[in-house]
Amino acid sequence: MSKYNPYDNFLDVLQQAASEIQLESNDYETIKYPERELKVSIPIEMDDGTLRVFEGYRVQHSTLRGPGKGGIRYHPDVNIDEVKALAAWMTFKCAVVNIPYGGAKGGITVDPKTLSFNELKRLTRRYTAMILPLIGPERDIPAPDVGTNAQVMDWIMDTYSIMKGYTVPGVVTGKHIDIGGSLGRAEATGRGVMIITEEMLTKLGKRPIDCKIAIQGMGNVGGISAKLFASIGCKITAISNVSGGLYCADGLDIPEIMEFVKTSPITEYKRKGVKHITNRELLTSDCDVLVLAALENQITAEIAHLVKAKMIVEGANGPTTVEADKILNDKEIIVVPDILANAGGVVVSYCEWVQNLQSLNWDENDVNITLKKVMIRAFDSVYEITKKRGIPMRLAAYIVALERLCVSRNLRGIFP
Ligand code: GLU
Repeated sequence: MSKYNPYDNFLDVLQQAASEIQLESNDYETIKYPERELKVSIPIEMDDGTLRVFEGYRVQHSTLRGPGKGGIRYHPDVNIDEVKALAAWMTFKCAVVNIPYGGAKGGITVDPKTLSFNELKRLTRRYTAMILPLIGPERDIPAPDVGTNAQVMDWIMDTYSIMKGYTVPGVVTGKHIDIGGSLGRAEATGRGVMIITEEMLTKLGKRPIDCKIAIQGMGNVGGISAKLFASIGCKITAISNVSGGLYCADGLDIPEIMEFVKTSPITEYKRKGVKHITNRELLTSDCDVLVLAALENQITAEIAHLVKAKMIVEGANGPTTVEADKILNDKEIIVVPDILANAGGVVVSYCEWVQNLQSLNWDENDVNITLKKVMIRAFDSVYEITKKRGIPMRLAAYIVALERLCVSRNLRGIFP
């Protein structure tokens, strides 16, 4: 388990944002605390007949601006502080992009790769049954996150629907298309990362195709953004997954590498001019843009001193520690924060939910146009605050979100 408490990271930035806009503590006191935290012990009969009990969580940080929204993570490091932080970041992410959701997150402490298909299905169904009182299309809408995918969402939707007695597609997003998923959802986070990177580069007077890009992570965020960057002619000089990374100063063949890692370990990929590197070497490699698309706390203070990139784009949630952030700011490295850079996923989740509630199917083009519009609008509002106040983008993004949250708090008031 990491020595950094990600919820403390969240509180630290929240405090900085509140001080910057001189909020009174009454204005944002409630935002410091998650509204609800549920911990469940999930018993599963394994394929060999033994019984195991897994720990699971669902945290609703805020429902101030709409129903709770956020993914479900299956990972051995999942713990309550991580889930609380991820839920809070969802509140801020949804507020930055101005979609009518609060923030929530769930997770199970498990390595899904160690379970069979049927064990995973039983675990997901039992977990869904145990968090059932909290979720629903008007209450809290889960989605995929690290270690979960469309299949897991399909099982959640089915379990919830069976319990209700009728099909409720809007209870989760990120489902397969055939049962109410949205076109464009699987690529949405990676596409959002690309849109935001392009916007930032344009402000700096640079073209993406002239930049060297290094990407940490080859999953749904890193892999898709790598493919999208490559498709517009960008040079990806480094990429990595949990097993290791690759580097080539002239640019890697991303489509080929993505195919290769489907069946073989990245460590076995051999091409002329391609060097094998560690994750640490990737983070400190010579590049213009570093996309972080793995897990939390990747850029620590120690690594921050060694980063050579001119700009970091946070495709993952919380990949930079608070201490590292200060060092990066001192080095004048631009950090495009997670709550803005990786919001593409939840924006298209919103499109999916809207389609489900109205029993509509949008064209992929309509989804992508909406995504682009929402992301650029959010980027502009954050960039404006950055320029106006001369502050880092993370602080600016928190301010945009916090101001919206405070407006809702003041209008709604406190019950009773
Ligand atoms: N897990 C994704 C995130 O962290 C998507 C959440 C969602 O679509 O609700 O943003």
